[in-house]
Amino acid sequence: MGKILIIGAGGVATVAAHKVCQNKDVFTEVMIASRTKSKCDALADVLNKKYGTDVATAQVDADSVEELVALLSSYKPELVMNLALPYQDLTIMEACLQTGCNYLDTANYEPKDEAHFEYSWQWAYRERFEKAGLCAILGCGFDPGVTSIYTAYAAKHYFSEMHYLDIVDCNAGNHHKAFATNFNPEINIREITQKGLYYENGKYIETEPMEIHMPLTYPGIGPKESYLLHHEEIESLVINFPTIKRARFWMTFGQQYLNYLDVIQNIGMARIDEVEYKAPKADGTGDEVVRIVPLQFLKAVLPNPQDLGSNYDGETSIGCRIRGIGNDGAERTYYVYNNCSHQAAYEETGMQGVSYTTGVPAMIGAMMFLKGIWSKPGVHNVEEFDPDPFMDELNRQGLPWHEIHNGNLEL
Ligand code: NDP
Repeated sequence: MGKILIIGAGGVATVAAHKVCQNKDVFTEVMIASRTKSKCDALADVLNKKYGTDVATAQVDADSVEELVALLSSYKPELVMNLALPYQDLTIMEACLQTGCNYLDTANYEPKDEAHFEYSWQWAYRERFEKAGLCAILGCGFDPGVTSIYTAYAAKHYFSEMHYLDIVDCNAGNHHKAFATNFNPEINIREITQKGLYYENGKYIETEPMEIHMPLTYPGIGPKESYLLHHEEIESLVINFPTIKRARFWMTFGQQYLNYLDVIQNIGMARIDEVEYKAPKADGTGDEVVRIVPLQFLKAVLPNPQDLGSNYDGETSIGCRIRGIGNDGAERTYYVYNNCSHQAAYEETGMQGVSYTTGVPAMIGAMMFLKGIWSKPGVHNVEEFDPDPFMDELNRQGLPWHEIHNGNLEL
């Protein structure tokens, strides 16, 4: 039915590629392209042996529109799944426009030299995608992604007006490392060291990083200290569901993780500006001064998130807690969530639960597009599409969801 190009060969791309290969009736031709081709080849090898597929590979620097255009022009996919880093969103969107390809990603654009993310850069492409008759699907991981679809599902089925939305993201897993991040360390540390931000009564309210926190109880897990963070889906959800009066995002962190993070920041290792560093020359003839970004250097010495899976136990629990007016005119609450086991994710795909909860929805979004269920020209956040067929697939593809009606939301 469809030909796709996956860009990136990291944790999320690995899970998405497994899921793509498990759905051969929809994904008939697949290529994986990334900066380091050997990683694509190793992944394709595993997939082809496991699923009897014939996944192709290529090398591409996705920072270069020219290289992307050359690859897209020769491979001619219907859809590009951008599972590289948020830095590449705009170059890949631009190349899609130049070659007539549709686009999907899981994280909104972020400039390399500024730890700041917002949708405006990608929304600026709306008219060009519309005019070209192409579809760009933004934020199709878990959060953003499934959380946005959960919200759309709640609006469609249960609420006449949603007033309070709290997205709650708990990782109660243990990877048995002193400190590690669950996805790309550079992107992750940039995200959580930013100031907090939430939406209330038409305004955004900024907080100090991790300033607001409280224990929240997660199903099957229990209470975990949860911290208010700035997260990208809030920006589109309050526009697409204008009855929302307050929208917040919470994530759990253990005390040890926060202590390490504090040290990393205090000693300057979270810096994203360049510093000079005297490094040994490759030919062994002394030293030379090079410029490095401390956070990128830190990434090189931290555990690779892709290697956490084999020793990861416990589970994630991510969901939406919503309060508002139900279809019968009475006040109601609704909590919809998924719990995902790190070990089960590892056994199926070789990756831990955080990559799994992102890669599976990315595949489902691509499936929705290729089946023609989600495909309208323009640039769209996932909550702008019909949530029902996506919710059905979540149950089939390994991320079943559960509902609690009129329970205590704690928030
Ligand atoms: P990884 O670091 O594991 O993988 C990133 C991949 O992108 C690597 O294969 C890397 O190649 C490749 N890449 C980086 N730069 C380029 C480039 N210039 N050209 C081509 N390829 C490049 O990251 P994850 O898999 O953990 O995360 C992938 C994406 O998923 C990120 O954007 C992240 O923000 C997003 N995400 C979204 C979530 C959600 O719920 N919505 C949750 C978690 C992650 P190389 O191996 O050579 O470095």
